[in-house]
Amino acid sequence: MTAILAVLQYTVAAAFVLLGLAATLDAVQRRERPRVYLAIALVLFSLVPVIARVQAALPAPSTALVNVSILAFLGCGYGILLFRSCFIPLSRTQHLLAAALVVAAVAFTLVAGLPPSSRLPGPYQQLVADVLILAWVVLVGDPIVRFWLASRDHPPVQRARLRGLSLAFAVLIAILLVGSVAGNRLQNVPAQIVTQLIALALVPMLYASLAQPGQLSRQWRALEQDELQQAIRDLLVFSPDRATAAARAVGWAARLVGADAAFIIDVDGQPLATQGMSPAQVEAVSEAWRDAPDVDEFSGRGVLRQPAILIGLHLSDGLGLLGALPGPFTPVFGAYEAGQLGGYASAVAAGLDRVRMTERLAAMERAKGQFLNLASHELRGPVAIIRGYMSMLERGTLGPLNESGLQAVRVMSAKATEMNALIEQMLDAARLEEGRLQLRLRPVEVRSVVERAVDLIRPLGDADHPIVVEAPDERLTIPMDAERVQTILTNLIDNAIKYSPGGGPVECRITVGDGSVLIAVHDHGVGIAADDLPRLFSRFGRVSSDATRHIPGIGLGLYLARELARLHGGDLTADSRVGKGSTFTLTLPTSEADRPEQNGLAAEVAGGG
Ligand code: ADP
Repeated sequence: MTAILAVLQYTVAAAFVLLGLAATLDAVQRRERPRVYLAIALVLFSLVPVIARVQAALPAPSTALVNVSILAFLGCGYGILLFRSCFIPLSRTQHLLAAALVVAAVAFTLVAGLPPSSRLPGPYQQLVADVLILAWVVLVGDPIVRFWLASRDHPPVQRARLRGLSLAFAVLIAILLVGSVAGNRLQNVPAQIVTQLIALALVPMLYASLAQPGQLSRQWRALEQDELQQAIRDLLVFSPDRATAAARAVGWAARLVGADAAFIIDVDGQPLATQGMSPAQVEAVSEAWRDAPDVDEFSGRGVLRQPAILIGLHLSDGLGLLGALPGPFTPVFGAYEAGQLGGYASAVAAGLDRVRMTERLAAMERAKGQFLNLASHELRGPVAIIRGYMSMLERGTLGPLNESGLQAVRVMSAKATEMNALIEQMLDAARLEEGRLQLRLRPVEVRSVVERAVDLIRPLGDADHPIVVEAPDERLTIPMDAERVQTILTNLIDNAIKYSPGGGPVECRITVGDGSVLIAVHDHGVGIAADDLPRLFSRFGRVSSDATRHIPGIGLGLYLARELARLHGGDLTADSRVGKGSTFTLTLPTSEADRPEQNGLAAEVAGGG
């Protein structure tokens, strides 16, 4: 039994020596202040069980060794305090108090001596050891709470890292209490064996909490997976501009690896987004990338505190740079982290490229809208003047014309009216784009609007295209902007005639639907292929076939008609078969209450009256 205990005691001592060695190796490799403090603390901590073993082997315990042990023990507590101070800084006063506590505890213990060679009377001997341990627990105990509290304000990876540190301190105290207190006070061998076993089991836990093997940081990162997926989707689909996309990307890059700072530098060396970096640091990085836009060359320049992760961003117009810089709570960066960030960088590059493309398209759209607006405004005046003179010529105000002159003027007048209608369509389209098109809703009888539209078109029609109106007997009065609905209907009836070169009746049928009134315009014309149907309603969307190529038009009529229908809270749909004819159905809600939730444009319209 005693032999087992002895073996265990040596094993525990060896485990602590190994822990100290691992920490020292880490500190030498990384040369960071917190790691150096931690290595000092753990090496000093390992001296305590080692000295205990040496003492046990000596014929008589050496007082000098006891004193070294005391110094190592409290030195370890102070080292841990310094380690913690790198993460959550201590104030000057706190530092002084802690140092005073260490000095006082050392002085007291050295003077009084530890049991069994204590200079105090029997009942007080254990007190010395208790004071020593208490001082140590105060030094080491405080960070447990601090780290835990600080962890609440951090994203998962850093949070887990902070909690890992908190746990590490708790384990240290547990080891001390189990190993020293219980071990020294319990004089029976089985109890001592149990305490040694517990101490031994705690050593790997301590190592895991402080050094964080890759597996552990992978687990922390797994907590982020769902949110990360969502963030990547947002980045790819919803970012309104490059700056927002880059800012989101940088935030996630840092979060993903638990970094303290991160940045994205654009192809031209301009910083696109940064987080946690000083302006000087940003400037240095940006300048270095401008000089050498190559990841290897850039890292060779030593602009950044190491270890940083640097990934090239393959953007459509060149190479950008994504970087993540470690901070005090960052888990160790390794190949896994670099891989993770590398994968993420592809999504970032795709997101940034998509936003750039959307921005360019939006700029083109804006230019198109502006051109439409400008051109139609400029055309409106001359066309009005031409129409005025035409009408004067027709009426003979400017002198009599012979029959063929009159004939020519009539054709020109009809063409000028057509031009005017096109200009009005272009102006309406521009107004719609800019949200300036406003409806004036009032109760209107549906049949009367349809008949007025038919009356407007009839003079342009001919005997081959009789227009028929079918309506229920009841009067249907619904809120609408009568002028706009008339525009929709004249467009539909005009199209029905235009696209029925072989003639055939045009039927306008009014029916009552569920909370809506439907007005269908049906023709027996060329029809539209199913594949082309979705295109009809887009701006300038025309379907060019052998049957329709010669028919004039600019493809704005149906676009406008559907937008106007939707502004009313209704819709316009098409149903057609090639060679058989088409039916365009306008749906209008019967009351304001039936108008579905409006989009921003329509809300503005409604607000505008
Ligand atoms: P436009 O008539 O000026 O070209 P529209 O927006 O009114 O523009 O129509 C878009 C396209 O839809 C037309 O080019 C035509 O190909 C098709 N179209 C519209 N109405 C009909 C119809 N009644 N029958 C067949 N094709 C039609």
